[in-house]
Parts: sequence; structure tokens; C-alpha cells
Amino acid sequence: MVFEFYPEVGLTRAELCDKISANMSDKRFQHVQNVAKSALRLAERWGYPEPRKAELAGLLHDYAKETTDETFIQLIDKYQLDPDLLNWNNNVWHGLVRIYKIQEDLGLTDPEITRAIEIHTVGSAAMSLLDKILYVADYVEDGRTFEGVDVARQLAYEQDLDAAVAYETVHTVAFLASKHVRIYPQTILTYNAYVEQLK
Ligand code: GDP
Ligand code: FE
Ligand code: FE
Repeated sequence: MVFEFYPEVGLTRAELCDKISANMSDKRFQHVQNVAKSALRLAERWGYPEPRKAELAGLLHDYAKETTDETFIQLIDKYQLDPDLLNWNNNVWHGLVRIYKIQEDLGLTDPEITRAIEIHTVGSAAMSLLDKILYVADYVEDGRTFEGVDVARQLAYEQDLDAAVAYETVHTVAFLASKHVRIYPQTILTYNAYVEQLK
């Protein structure tokens, strides 16, 4: 199922894809299309009633990921976001901060979609069905090849979406720790809230 018009942004699919692809590399554009496809599949499997929103969240989730650090810093200031965000980097900012850029550029106001995009990198302790669909779709889309992706896909598409959230979070935390980089506190809250879903 592919939708031809997205009322949440007032654009046809072709217009939307033009805007998105103008803002990113071909490789990332392929990734966001894969995430949209995976989000649709998860919406169907787990009974999310608005598949168009799942697809749109997938298409928009990494919008303008190539935004400069300077622009992010200006947005943190302009919207008076938590100043602690200044201690982090693009990986953490591109969901939490970029949502304001998506709102500015596309007029997106739908609170379910903006929330899902906002937390797609770090998750949250209490995720809606759409939040989980986008978080997991980003991890299991067809282009991902990391070790364990088969287990993640089986949990996501077949067995248990909460367990898929947990699997992704456990592995992301372990990966970040192995690289000796700081872990954003909200990522730890997601870990604590979902880890026992794997038992
Ligand atoms: P992508 O945008 O499709 O590449 O995927 P994500 O938005 O899920 O993640 C972007 C990057 O952020 C990945 O390299 C993650 O490992 C990294 N990341 C996720 N959570 C955290 C965190 O808590 N702290 C830091 N420093 N990086 C994180
Ligand atoms: Fe992302
Ligand atoms: Fe992504």
C-alpha cells in the first residue's frame, strides 16, 4: 500500500519525495523509503489504525539529517529547548531538535507523527504504538545488515513489538558502550522500561 496524498503536510507523494530527496544523499533517501515500507508492514502486523501516518513518519524521520551543527544550535536557542542538549551531537539532535525544522519547513503539526520522529533515535519510557513502529522500522528496514538483524526482524514482524524495542535498545546501549561514547539519559530510561520484555 502506498498513499498518493498526505494531508498532514498538504503534499502529493511525488511532491513530498522531491522535497525529501533534495535534502539528503541518495543513500539516505533509499533508507527513508525502506523505513516507510517497514513501518507500513509493522502497522499492518500490529494493528495501527492509520497506516498513512506510519508511512509518512518513515519518509520524514531523517529529514535534513545533513543539517549543520550551527542550525541545530540556533534551533535549541530559538525554541528554548533543554540547554543540556548543547552537550550532545548530531546523532542525538537529529530527532529531538530537527522536529522543529520539519515543522518549519513542511508545516507538520500532527502530534502523533512529530512525537514519533522526535524520539526515533533515543526512544522513551512510554512509547505509543506509532513511536514503537518508527523506532523499530528504522532498525530492521531491508537495507540493515548488522549482526542480529534477523533476530530483530523476527521479533518485529512476527513475535512481539515490545521485545523488538527492547532488543534494539539493549544492542544500541551495548554498541555505544563498546565505542566508549556517552549515552543520552533518555536512552537509558528506554532501556530500563523495556529490557525485561526480552525475558
Ligand atoms: P539513523 O539516523 O537511521 O542512522 O538511526 P538512528 O536515528 O536510530 O541513530 C543515529 C545514531 O545515533 C546511531 O549511530 C546510534 O548508534 C546513535 N545513538 C543512538 N542513541 C544514542 C545515545 O544515547 N547517545 C549517543 N551518543 N548516540 C546515540
Ligand atoms: Fe535517525
Ligand atoms: Fe533512520
